[in-house]
Amino acid sequence: MSDELQKHRAKKSLGQNFLKDQNICRKIVDAIDPTENDFIIEIGPGRGALTEFLVETGARKLVALEMDDELARRLDERWPHLEVIRMDALKFPWESLNEGPCKIIGNLPYNVGSKLIWDIVSRVQTLERAVFMVQHEVATRLTAEPGCKAFGGLTAWVNNFCTTTYLFKVPPTVFRPQPKVDSAVVRFTPLPVEKWPAAPDRLSELIKILFQQRRKQISTILKKRWNQSIEEWFESEGISPKIRPENLTPKQFSSLSERL
Ligand code: SAM
Repeated sequence: MSDELQKHRAKKSLGQNFLKDQNICRKIVDAIDPTENDFIIEIGPGRGALTEFLVETGARKLVALEMDDELARRLDERWPHLEVIRMDALKFPWESLNEGPCKIIGNLPYNVGSKLIWDIVSRVQTLERAVFMVQHEVATRLTAEPGCKAFGGLTAWVNNFCTTTYLFKVPPTVFRPQPKVDSAVVRFTPLPVEKWPAAPDRLSELIKILFQQRRKQISTILKKRWNQSIEEWFESEGISPKIRPENLTPKQFSSLSERL
């Protein structure tokens, strides 16, 4: 890593916890299965801990989205062929990537990680694979099975667009400054677009309604919206409307949302 980048002092407001363990960095980059044909986008390159290994892969095109002006400038100077875009990744037009295959990677800032993942998996139809480091607790939610306490709205949404794999846990000691909690790396493998939800807006609405009151029975939560079609849906699925939201599978959320 260059001295200029190393000199940068971490900003808490931007979730800057920089990786200092080269083996972990290599493991994260390997998880994206990089090839020379790849177009890879890195979110939040920071001081370039992962970028260094991404550059080594010889990937055809590398783009980095970094919100910190000073870091973006230093990354630009360090790797002239890396395209650094200075912007808030939450505002990135993800659909613009739909012209060709791409992979997305990042040690995500904790405060925006879930929102970024929600958007990316549902808007990038040409995504080949994504690998993100997030808080361990978020990784557990992303990969939870129905019926588990960790299963939530994020689980139901994300797993309608891709399969998620919990890869490995990362302790606070490999960062500077050290975060207060464990982190974990998750791999996202998109489902074929034909299998994506037919009505994503309705799915997102249903997820929000059900998980705002997750301790209640579904029939109670949906009381005001109840109709014949919903009744029939429960019958055809062979499940009781008295179950709680976390007991539905991601696919069931999607098909139920079409009856709303
Ligand atoms: N990739 C580096 C590493 O692993 O050492 C840095 C990871 S650090 C956890 C998160 C990075 O994301 C920081 O560089 C921070 O400036 C950047 N960042 C924070 N919020 C952002 C946002 N909304 N859009 C783009 N980058 C952001």
